[in-house]
Amino acid sequence: MDLVRFLATVVAITSCATNPALAQDRVDSALVAEIASIRAIDDHTHDDPIYAERVKTWSADSPLGSPAYPDTLTLRRDNPEWIRAWRALYGYRYQDMQPAHLRELLATKKRLMLEKADQWPRYVLDAAGVDIAFVNATHLGVGQENGRFRWVPWADPLLWPFSGEKSVLGFPGGGSSIGQLQREAGVAALPASLNGYVTQIVEATLAKWSATGVVAIKFLSAYRRGIDFALVDPDVAASVYTRAMSGLPVDSPQHKSLEDYLFHEIAAHAGAHRLVVQIHTGNGNGPYFNNTRANPGLLEEVLADASLRNTKFVLLHGGWPFYLTAQAMTDRPNVFTDFSAQTFYLTTHALAEVLRGWLEWHPEKVLFGTDAYSDANTPLSDYEEKQWLMTEKARRALAIALTGMLGDGEITRERAKEIAHMVMRDSSLALYRLN
Ligand SMILES: [Zn+2]
Repeated sequence: MDLVRFLATVVAITSCATNPALAQDRVDSALVAEIASIRAIDDHTHDDPIYAERVKTWSADSPLGSPAYPDTLTLRRDNPEWIRAWRALYGYRYQDMQPAHLRELLATKKRLMLEKADQWPRYVLDAAGVDIAFVNATHLGVGQENGRFRWVPWADPLLWPFSGEKSVLGFPGGGSSIGQLQREAGVAALPASLNGYVTQIVEATLAKWSATGVVAIKFLSAYRRGIDFALVDPDVAASVYTRAMSGLPVDSPQHKSLEDYLFHEIAAHAGAHRLVVQIHTGNGNGPYFNNTRANPGLLEEVLADASLRNTKFVLLHGGWPFYLTAQAMTDRPNVFTDFSAQTFYLTTHALAEVLRGWLEWHPEKVLFGTDAYSDANTPLSDYEEKQWLMTEKARRALAIALTGMLGDGEITRERAKEIAHMVMRDSSLALYRLN
């Protein structure tokens, strides 16, 4: 590049950065209005039920709370976008974060929660324009048993037959153990054989969940191990199970082979009950999360196996930062992806770029999700604010992506509307059979 062209580029970039009109993404106003009207299905949240202790850690002296580790930009408590959520949810009257205003705001939130009592969780969904929210937790709680919330149980404890009452993972929403699932299945002692375990506990648990209206199960395993679930010979897995039952030591490769085998069995049995299998892929909570072992590409072999083609899988969080791998994996007829958590990992602009790539690939495979959750000390950026703001950001990002595709002549206006409805609602209705 010669000097004149270089200087011209610098001038162009500088003027973009300082001119908000140029920095904004273009959106088609008719599409924005259409998308705003869609009653969304949020396929992944950790929305809280009503429980009295929740507000006890919230301090009037520190309405924004304080982070345990440095948050990324969009999750920071001083992100001005939270103000939009506060105005929508609590009628916040200000456009600033002055301490006195925030103290008043936290008091208003607490008062509204008390006033609305059991209606609170539903009120939050109504404010966000969400029809149904999936709640990934140990169980649904007070205020969530009204058809607006669908329970997504943890499948992980089934991977660890010998963990007893221990919750192997720190699940959001409380502990879950194989001991508890075994009791609920009415099995007094761990079956002597692996086949017995699969039939009496795995199959019984999935059948019971399915019969009670559960439509999906979730694996959080990437927080404990790589998601490189391999295909394992049944005899190899059975011998590890028998060895552990007889009290002999089992080394970690042996443990892995048993877990891998059980992942396959759980997924196969889930498919037989038409339970969708959601898997955490990509970035996770905390500064030391191991991204590499959560790469959705590690699932390619097992998900392609002929024995699992009747099971539908959702790559939760779209594998971000491996979102291109997730995109490529939606080639498989039984693999879908959602963009939950990307809603707060990314800015609206960055999310729109991911969505555009995905929607130019298999638009039928892209699902809306927020991953709304409450953190340890986030009184004003808790699940309520995330449910509202992340839904709003998703709608906006979708509008930006579709406006670009429309403008470039890749889709018609009718198709743009259709895709918007699929992403926000229709594809989830069909996949999870909510009709
Ligand atoms: Zn989650």
